[in-house]
Amino acid sequence: MEQGLDESLLRAAVEQSYNAVVVTDPGLEGAGQRIRYVNAAFERMTGYTREELIGHTPKILQGAATDPAVLRTLRQRLAAGQGFEGSAINYRKDGRPYHVEWLISPVRDDSGRITAWLSIQRDVTHERELEQEARLLSTAVESSAASILITDTEGCIVYVNRGFEQITGYRRDEVLGETPAVLNSGEQSARFYRDLWTTLERGETFRGTFLNRNRSGALFYLEQSITPVRADQGQVVRYVATGKDITERVRMEEELKRAATTDALTGLANRLSFEQLLERDYERCRRYGGALSLLMFDLDHFKAVNDAHGHEAGDAVLQALAGLVLANVRTADTVARWGGEEFMVLLPETPLAAAGELAEKLRERVAAHRFPHGAPVTASFGVCALRDDDTCRTLVRRADEALYRAKHLGRDRVECLSR
Ligand code: GH3
Ligand code: MG
Ligand code: MG
Repeated sequence: MEQGLDESLLRAAVEQSYNAVVVTDPGLEGAGQRIRYVNAAFERMTGYTREELIGHTPKILQGAATDPAVLRTLRQRLAAGQGFEGSAINYRKDGRPYHVEWLISPVRDDSGRITAWLSIQRDVTHERELEQEARLLSTAVESSAASILITDTEGCIVYVNRGFEQITGYRRDEVLGETPAVLNSGEQSARFYRDLWTTLERGETFRGTFLNRNRSGALFYLEQSITPVRADQGQVVRYVATGKDITERVRMEEELKRAATTDALTGLANRLSFEQLLERDYERCRRYGGALSLLMFDLDHFKAVNDAHGHEAGDAVLQALAGLVLANVRTADTVARWGGEEFMVLLPETPLAAAGELAEKLRERVAAHRFPHGAPVTASFGVCALRDDDTCRTLVRRADEALYRAKHLGRDRVECLSR
């Protein structure tokens, strides 16, 4: 015996051990090994008192879910005088199963004869449950169609799932150790990334739509939330980003918006979006001053074009006209189809005289243009400029009045309302 470690000290140590300890007789025949000693941890683990256990064999702990193959191996090992390490399901006194891990070894006397079996045991039920839960969660994460990416606090990627691989086209081994900047498209504002970092540094979840570039260079929209993950002590140890590819949705929204604001035949702004743009420019003029002119035109005797050449030829005229007008205005100007063959041009920062000159130029270009059906087409133009007492509605009404006057005075002409 080592100095200072007398038997009573050792006994106390075993008795107080966190691990369950059981000592059994050497006998393997007959009733089997009877329990000679159990410590307090063994009593806690099994729910039996030592009085209930001593003299019995460990069989009283076994039950329906105890793996017979493990018990067979155990018996073979012990019969051969060898130790055994393994695990099985056992049952507490109250019938509740628990998962136990054993380390069993023979105790021999000086002649080498086995005098007892010493078994150190541990209830690993909770650990096994946690492992199983972790396996379950990692399967869920791995097989999710969403993109899941985890970085360390330096922003280096430590994990990506299959969804990430599918969405981005990058294989796991290509991005591990890199930063998510490999996906940067250069199309996102510096402000977006600033918001991202200030939110994360506050310890909050950032949500945003990233315009990223995939492995083949194509842009895609990733709706993503990034959450800091903290350790027990509260310090951030990981960032977890989960995202959904919403490219198709964004494209559809863009398409819907385009369809709602443009005229299908000519591709020009439609009446609704023209009214919104007029409203916006009108408000700007009211607040900051500056000129705003409006030009309205209508094709002359267009009904006759349809009648003589067919409706499709008429449509082709409208399409060609849209291209012609667009080619002769500034990018700041808005050309819209107001109705059937009536058009509007909104001219910001343009006084009446300049608007009149533009109208005259357009009139000439239309009259000189060779349309697909071969016959000349003319248009009449009404022009007016925003007055102090105008609303959007009165401005439009006065452009219409000017146009009416141009029609009345013989068509193929420009009329400017000077007041
Ligand atoms: P004016 O304006 O010179 O008085 O005579 P107009 O014959 O052009 O008369 P109005 O403006 O009243 O008639 C508009 C005609 O434009 C009626 C319709 O046949 C034609 N139109 C309107 N929308 C379309 C369209 O989308 N396609 C075609 N092909 N024709 C259209
Ligand atoms: Mg007309
Ligand atoms: Mg008309």
